[in-house]
Amino acid sequence: MAAELRLSRENLNAPFLQKLGEISGQNVFACYQCGKCSAGCLFAEHMDVLPNQVIRLLQLGDEGVLAARAPWVCAACLACSVRCPKGVDVARIMEALRQLALRRGIMPVQLKLDREFPQIALVGALRKVTP
Ligand code: SF4
Ligand code: SF4
Repeated sequence: MAAELRLSRENLNAPFLQKLGEISGQNVFACYQCGKCSAGCLFAEHMDVLPNQVIRLLQLGDEGVLAARAPWVCAACLACSVRCPKGVDVARIMEALRQLALRRGIMPVQLKLDREFPQIALVGALRKVTP
C-alpha cells in the first residue's frame, strides 16, 4: 500500500478508477462508509484492508489498493453486496480489483493448491488468477 496519499482532482479522475468502474459497473462514490460490508464479511479478519476501507481508498483515488491482499482473500460470498444500504456491489469491486491487478502483474498472495482440495475450491481459486 502507498505510504503517502495525496488528495487531488487528478486522483479522482485516475484512469484506473474509470477502468474499475467499467469492469465492475459500480460507483464507489455511492458508498457513505457505514461499515456494514466489513461487519458482515466472514473473511475480514484475514484481510489487510477491510472491504469498506478498500472502497474508501478507491474514493480517494489511491492506486496502491491494487497491491492489497484483501481482494484475494475475498471469497466472493456476496454478503457485503447484500448488506450494503447504498446498493454498492462490493464483491464485484473486489473482482474488478483482482482483474486490474492481474493485468498489471500484481499478485500479492501465493496460491498453494492441494490435490485434496474440493473441486469447487480448486475451480474458485483458479478463477481468481485467470485474467
Ligand atoms: S464478497 Fe468478499 S468482501 Fe464481500 S463479504 Fe464476501 S468475502 Fe467479504
Ligand atoms: S455497506 Fe455499502 S455504504 Fe456501507 S461501507 Fe460498505 S460499501 Fe459503503
